[in-house]
Amino acid sequence: MTDAKYDYDLFVIGAGSGGTRAARVSAAHGARVAVAEEYRVGGTCVIRGCVPKKLLVYGAHFAEDLADARRFGWDVPDCSFDWKVLTGNVFEEVDRINKAYTATLETHGAEIIHERAELTGPNNVRLASGREVTAKYILIASGARPHIPTCPGHEYGITSNEAFHLDSVPRRILIAGAGYIANEFAGIFHELGAEVTLINRSDQILRGYDEQIRDRLLQISMTKGLQFRFNAKFEGIEQQADGALKVSMSNHAPIEVDCVMFATGRVPNTENLGLDAAGVETNEKGAVKVDEDSRSNVPSIYAVGDVTDRIQLTPVAIREGQAFADTVFGNKPTRVDYHCVPAAVFSHPQMAGVGMTESQAKQKHGSVKVYVSDFRPMKNVLAGRNERALYKMICDGETNKILGIHMIGPEAAEILQAAAVAVKAGLTKDAFDQTVALHPTMAEELVLMK
Ligand code: NDP
Repeated sequence: MTDAKYDYDLFVIGAGSGGTRAARVSAAHGARVAVAEEYRVGGTCVIRGCVPKKLLVYGAHFAEDLADARRFGWDVPDCSFDWKVLTGNVFEEVDRINKAYTATLETHGAEIIHERAELTGPNNVRLASGREVTAKYILIASGARPHIPTCPGHEYGITSNEAFHLDSVPRRILIAGAGYIANEFAGIFHELGAEVTLINRSDQILRGYDEQIRDRLLQISMTKGLQFRFNAKFEGIEQQADGALKVSMSNHAPIEVDCVMFATGRVPNTENLGLDAAGVETNEKGAVKVDEDSRSNVPSIYAVGDVTDRIQLTPVAIREGQAFADTVFGNKPTRVDYHCVPAAVFSHPQMAGVGMTESQAKQKHGSVKVYVSDFRPMKNVLAGRNERALYKMICDGETNKILGIHMIGPEAAEILQAAAVAVKAGLTKDAFDQTVALHPTMAEELVLMK
């Protein structure tokens, strides 16, 4: 497999989830691998995404747990919260995982080059130091970055990247966008005591999720005191004499806050990557165009993960990296199956879904049966928390095959992962009916739906 004509068999640009998996597995298959990473090994998920975010979600949720504990007999004194303690511990955990990722690459013999890399040809890369290297294959795994609207004063705003590094929890925060990141950080900051306002250009949150489920999140969030402004196009930020930020938007009065966060989608990192020099084509969003094998129009250049803008989720990038390595270096051609990829929003409470939403199923199948369980989890009842969970199962009207499951409620993501196996396996509702309930749980609602 090794071709002495080149310095490496594989050169990976970006040591995030997809790049690291591809590099490690390719090296294990015997390839001579180098990975260039200009920031930190681990990429968005480990360093400034899924991992630290989930830890903040856990940290924030104690606000509700501590309040609820009193109803369960605990004498909880008035507690105070220290943002620096939480973020300090989160950064320590991030460092630990970053080291583990680095060690994994090194023990498999992949060389890590801590520099920015740029393509200069189909088999050529130039490093920031000026060193030129050649590789039989190049894998672009440079990820994506937050989109920042071009409006006056945008420089006063932060993104999720900076949110972890705030000195304190802002007293008032405005979040632009109403997707995953907006709803997750809105929940975190609200639980930690901030006044939170979400503004979105459209009239809905979490476009693409099941309507009833996202309506439930909206209703619960509003009841908790989060503010929403819809059909509000971001117009600009002006800093006031006292340091406050005045945000203007269409159709609504301006709002004064202490922090503005943009959560308006993520754009592929393809700028200044030398794609033109190598002849690599991108789509209208700037993402690298790839085929089912993650191969670009240049046969020696592949791309995986967010830079391809297929499904921007870590487990998908990891699968793409694995499939690339197995196909190109493992003599085991593999393609990623994008059907029934589960997803979750780590809001308070969580939302999770797999497969088609009710409206998607109706459009595709015409006749569908929808089973619903709308219930108040027993823990919420005792806690006096008036927050209802909602589970939906969408089935084919004729065969009863499950087309999708969507839910909102405590631990929805944990529950849905198991249910996603059934949907992926193509089971029917009967399989759920035949399964005895595990009582008392929230998950038992899945096998008791009428
Ligand atoms: P999303 O695509 O989830 O949401 C983007 C939001 O910003 C939407 O409300 C959208 O409005 C709005 N928007 C999009 N473009 C613009 C624009 N040009 N100007 C103003 N508003 C705009 O993106 P996120 O940034 O929240 O997250 C990026 C991706 O990262 C997600 O799609 C997801 O794949 C991944 N992610 C996954 C998480 C998880 O698995 N739990 C957590 C965080 C991120 P509308 O659509 O209503 O028009």
